[in-house]
Amino acid sequence: MEVCKDRLSLARFRSGLGESVGFVATMGALHKGHLSLIEKSLQENTHTIVSIFVNPTQFGENEDFGSYPRTLEADLALCERAGVSAVFTPSVEDMYSTDEITFNPPKNMGYILEGFDRPTHFAGVIAVVLKLFMLVKPRKAYFGQKDAQQVLILQKMVRDLFLDIEIVPCEIVRDDDGLALSSRNIYLSAKEREIALCIPRTIALVEQHIKNGEMSVDKLKALALESLRLGETTLFYADFFNRELKPIAVVKKQESIFLLALRVGKTRLLDNLWI
Ligand code: AMP
Repeated sequence: MEVCKDRLSLARFRSGLGESVGFVATMGALHKGHLSLIEKSLQENTHTIVSIFVNPTQFGENEDFGSYPRTLEADLALCERAGVSAVFTPSVEDMYSTDEITFNPPKNMGYILEGFDRPTHFAGVIAVVLKLFMLVKPRKAYFGQKDAQQVLILQKMVRDLFLDIEIVPCEIVRDDDGLALSSRNIYLSAKEREIALCIPRTIALVEQHIKNGEMSVDKLKALALESLRLGETTLFYADFFNRELKPIAVVKKQESIFLLALRVGKTRLLDNLWI
């Protein structure tokens, strides 16, 4: 496995590969969720390139850019064992200059939900993913449905900018207790983790009621709010949308998403259900 520490070494390595390149963009601290994306790419492409880059432009000023978990040695070992062709680990200086051209996300998709509290977040995601796409030149790129809003905005980016890249959404991987895997879960104390389990329980409850035929968003939302431990958590949102992130009143199968985010202790946790 090649470890490319800068753009030049990645360009050299990439020039020796053919068309069939799959790409997984990560911020490192890799877990089984990341691995599931990597494995899907390995199945569907001749080569898989993984990037490990804690992207400063997607963090807000008071967020955890400085303290974000960094576990490069273990991450490289995981990629090597999995059969990845190359890992790209650029420096911030290699990726960004100053006063750059930027793209903003669509108004209706980029400044609600995650973008409401973090208005610069999706412009940062777009900046880094576009740059990584230009460097890696993948045919397919794999993103987790856990970050549902991110997947939908990146699919729109690919459509709007005529990029010849398929965004492949991948299912959420959960821990044994049901909590969606996240690099930030290590911030949770045992007690906070126990409280956080109300999130997957709520997702499962909503899923069950939809299976039983309940399609009213008002009713499903009321159930969800009852099942979240709101005295012990801070709710950012728990709501239903279509795939364009427009609010809906009635759930439709294959078309709707239930998105929720809440804070437990100091940790912001996301989860969702693609209906
Ligand atoms: P991150 O390193 O947090 O930027 O995540 C890199 C990619 O892994 C993103 O596409 C995430 O959506 C995806 N990912 C993170 N956690 C999970 C999970 N539990 N299940 C599936 N994909 C995930």
